[in-house]
Amino acid sequence: MGKISELINKDTKQKNESKRMTVIIRQLLLISVALSLFHLFLDISILKSLQGSLVWVAMLIVDGITLYASYHTSKRFILAVFVMQKTAWIVTATLMFGWDSGFQFFLILLMIMYSFGEAGYNRKKLFFDFVCFTLFVVFLEFFKGDPGRINIENADRTIQVINALAFVSMVAIVSFSFSKESQQMEDKLITYNNQLKEQASVDALTGLYNRRSTMEFINGLIEQNRVFSICIGDIDFFKKVNDTYGHDFGDTVLVAISEVMRNQVLAYGLVSRWGGEEFLIVFVDLNGDDAYIKLSHLRETVKDIRLSHINDEVKVTMTYGLTEYDTSKSFEENIKEADEKLYMGKQDGRDKIVY
Ligand code: GH3
Ligand code: MG
Ligand code: MG
Repeated sequence: MGKISELINKDTKQKNESKRMTVIIRQLLLISVALSLFHLFLDISILKSLQGSLVWVAMLIVDGITLYASYHTSKRFILAVFVMQKTAWIVTATLMFGWDSGFQFFLILLMIMYSFGEAGYNRKKLFFDFVCFTLFVVFLEFFKGDPGRINIENADRTIQVINALAFVSMVAIVSFSFSKESQQMEDKLITYNNQLKEQASVDALTGLYNRRSTMEFINGLIEQNRVFSICIGDIDFFKKVNDTYGHDFGDTVLVAISEVMRNQVLAYGLVSRWGGEEFLIVFVDLNGDDAYIKLSHLRETVKDIRLSHINDEVKVTMTYGLTEYDTSKSFEENIKEADEKLYMGKQDGRDKIVY
């Protein structure tokens, strides 16, 4: 089993093209070989037809050569060889064994193969489908009811069933391979889109939600008629931090504060980066009084943050404007109220909550 799988999946000479089609063709060739061996056995033992046996030996040789070629040529070439040799195979088999043996159905397989295998060229595919259809009609015209050169009468059921089995297996291989591929592609796209969506809703520096996603979140709460409070917090004298320790260190401070706030707010709401050094906190299911208690705790935690810069220990404070969200007012009006309270806090000496 391992050997067969190795044989099927072995690389092609062309390193820069996908080997999927080649792998599929190898699998189909193995089924074709098994089918030929079955027919050969049947022709020797039951039909006792030398002519028939020779046909199957010839087909085995052609399949062998095609398989060999699949390791040494491009996938387009091998697809073309496969389609041509199988067309000849179908014509020969129908001529020899008659319409009832059911070889004409393999034309449908070729259509499917060609449609999947040839990227892009729709006109070419349509042309090929037309050729297959014409062949089908020609077959119908000339061979319908034709018993063929070899009398299969006492084995016709067996031949039909085995041919149908081979045909169904081949179609299954082709469709499984391609549907698996497109499913994987779809999964990749979904993951990629989710990543993009996440990137679009999160601030790159702090990893906090950005304005857009916070507004979506608040709209959701309004739709659900929830009670909630909002607060805008602004770092005090942040410009001085930047001026004294550099912008990069300022970033480090922003990230550290964000981390602490996110961890604490996670339990009852959402914190977002509202602007440069401003944060908007949403206290879900908390009226103003209850939110005030949570916020007081948060303020203490932020004050406790210690960051070191060379020999200095750096700490920061924040000023907060808190308001219970009033759904009879617009979003902008609510934000404005929180903003005005923040401004009052700044005027009043900073490091405090105005509620
Ligand atoms: P106040 O207490 O009145 O808020 O004083 P402040 O210095 O914090 O306020 P001001 O608005 O004067 O300055 C805000 C500073 O925040 C200025 C700006 O360079 C800095 N800032 C904004 N976004 C970032 C950022 O992403 N990284 C860094 N390092 N600094 C930022
Ligand atoms: Mg500010
Ligand atoms: Mg500030």
